[in-house]
Amino acid sequence: MESRNESSEISRNKCAACFRQFNKMEHLVEHMRISYHSVHEPMCGICKKHCRSYESLREHVIGPLPKQECKNIFSIRGCKFCLTILDSPNARRVHQERCQLSGGLLASFANLGLRDNLTIDNGYARGRQVVALACKMVGGGSDGSIDLCARVCLIDENENIIFHTYVKPPIPVTNYRYETTGIRPEYLRDATPLRQVQKKIQDFLCNGEPTWKIRPRGGKARILVGHDLDRLQLEYPAVMMRDTAKYPPLMKTSKLSNSLKYLTQAYLGYDIQTGMQDPYEDCVATMRLYIRMRSQNHTIEDYPLAFDPQNRNNFASWRQSELERMSPEEMFAISRSDYYCWCLDS
Ligand SMILES: [Zn+2]
Ligand SMILES: [Zn+2]
Ligand SMILES: [Zn+2]
Ligand SMILES: [Zn+2]
Repeated sequence: MESRNESSEISRNKCAACFRQFNKMEHLVEHMRISYHSVHEPMCGICKKHCRSYESLREHVIGPLPKQECKNIFSIRGCKFCLTILDSPNARRVHQERCQLSGGLLASFANLGLRDNLTIDNGYARGRQVVALACKMVGGGSDGSIDLCARVCLIDENENIIFHTYVKPPIPVTNYRYETTGIRPEYLRDATPLRQVQKKIQDFLCNGEPTWKIRPRGGKARILVGHDLDRLQLEYPAVMMRDTAKYPPLMKTSKLSNSLKYLTQAYLGYDIQTGMQDPYEDCVATMRLYIRMRSQNHTIEDYPLAFDPQNRNNFASWRQSELERMSPEEMFAISRSDYYCWCLDS
């Protein structure tokens, strides 16, 4: 009985999103319960396979172990930065020229804008304001291995500097890491203490709203973009942070983050953090990555947000027998993402 019509049985148990095949329907159901497939996942423009991250999509269309049909088309019409498929080789050329950004002049601009106070606070922009924050670390502790924030930069969505300053760490600096930070002891001697800088930044982010009142949608509080924002130990609601080190589509695996240097190279097409580094450059890179992710064109479903109670366990309300009777496409249709897709900010 089991082997009767086995091949059609197997294709019936094929995941409609990632195309994995299962011997038994109950295994596909189990897979759907834990994989949180959704319209927000990176998707191959050729075969429509859904991937958990851009890294796995890159492997799928470029290599080292690509799917041959997809690789062939991608090599003619695919953008190697955002991984979308264009209509023709010519459209690809035009698109890719715009998709690849350059960062050459950034570092020299940065120092011109050196500003030591938060002056821009006039609510000029309509809609939610977005700012990016980055810092440079020096070393503390006996072997200089404790990272201490010594310089921060905050920019707006148009890459204008809002705030750019040296910071005095709370414990003595034992390694200035001069070759990469360019920071000398005298720069930090009269700098603003870390606590004060954190407070200033928090106030700026809250934008007049008490922390407890900040909601993910509506309201005046600003969205904060950055890479590895935890390092700054800000007191700011997680729902307002967009961290390029923790965003599943930009991660290496579900546990490992890509470095900002790698992300900028792979997704924006230019080099950062060469030689002496300015946090302005990191701010710009994270803001550009954020904007690129936010501008993805996804269908919006009912209950699109990972934190909607309906989605907390998207299959919990269904009986196993009901799910086993569904087609793979029907199961995919009720499946929801377990992370907040940045396209929802737009
Ligand atoms: Zn799947
Ligand atoms: Zn999305
Ligand atoms: Zn494909
Ligand atoms: Zn592109």
